[in-house]
Amino acid sequence: MTNRPAIDLKEVHLSLGEGAGRVHILKGIDLEIESGTAVGLVGPSGSGKSTLLMVMAGLERSDSGKVVVAGSNLSPLSEDELARFRGANVGIIFQSFHLVPNMTALENVAVPLELAGDRQAFDKARRELEAVGLGHRLGHYPSQMSGGEQQRVAVARALVVQPKILIADEPTGNLDDSTGAQIVELMFKAQRERAMTLVLVTHDPSLAEQCDRMIRLRSGEIEDDRNRSSAPARSQAAEVGA
Ligand code: ADP
Ligand code: MG
Repeated sequence: MTNRPAIDLKEVHLSLGEGAGRVHILKGIDLEIESGTAVGLVGPSGSGKSTLLMVMAGLERSDSGKVVVAGSNLSPLSEDELARFRGANVGIIFQSFHLVPNMTALENVAVPLELAGDRQAFDKARRELEAVGLGHRLGHYPSQMSGGEQQRVAVARALVVQPKILIADEPTGNLDDSTGAQIVELMFKAQRERAMTLVLVTHDPSLAEQCDRMIRLRSGEIEDDRNRSSAPARSQAAEVGA
């Protein structure tokens, strides 16, 4: 079996907004991401990073080009099919947590499984919360938790469906350095243990350094794309054609 890329984008264009406010955001993105890779996505504010993540996650449709994620061609899918695709394949973590305020930690994490009709939703949610160190916060509401705790809940919610692809949009942007570092540690640990593909948008160069590959966007185009020094043997071997 050939090893198909986890994410395969060809000539992806996307404009958003109406009338005079319409903005051409993604301008011909070509990108293949190998399964199991951790990719850091960087670039100036407004360069299209979040929009590109939304396309990969099936939350925005490209206007043209090919979008194949986890083996599914997303372009022809209906809204219902896209929702099912996301539920089965993609975990997403946002900067501002996006928890449901009137649900407990346990209920927030169980939501994606309940939507999929999983009868063990609450058992699995509890285990996932224990794995992120929040076994003692199951009945807490978001407003009763610190930012770091809320982001742990969001990580557990992203992981509970056992996604093939984990997408994180500046997940440490609202956290202090040491709390952010703990969240990052959790994400990388999960990525390694579960052999997930990780796409991480960050402004933090040291975070991008920890990824296998770093992609830089500028004005909706890929400006730079390189393997990181964290994998020297592999990239050097590739360069000498070994
Ligand atoms: P980044 O995450 O790199 O900061 P974004 O993907 O959020 O960039 O946005 C890229 C550009 O697209 C920005 O100029 C932003 O204002 C614009 N944009 C994003 N979403 C919309 C939208 N729904 N309608 C119009 N313009 C948008
Ligand atoms: Mg953004």
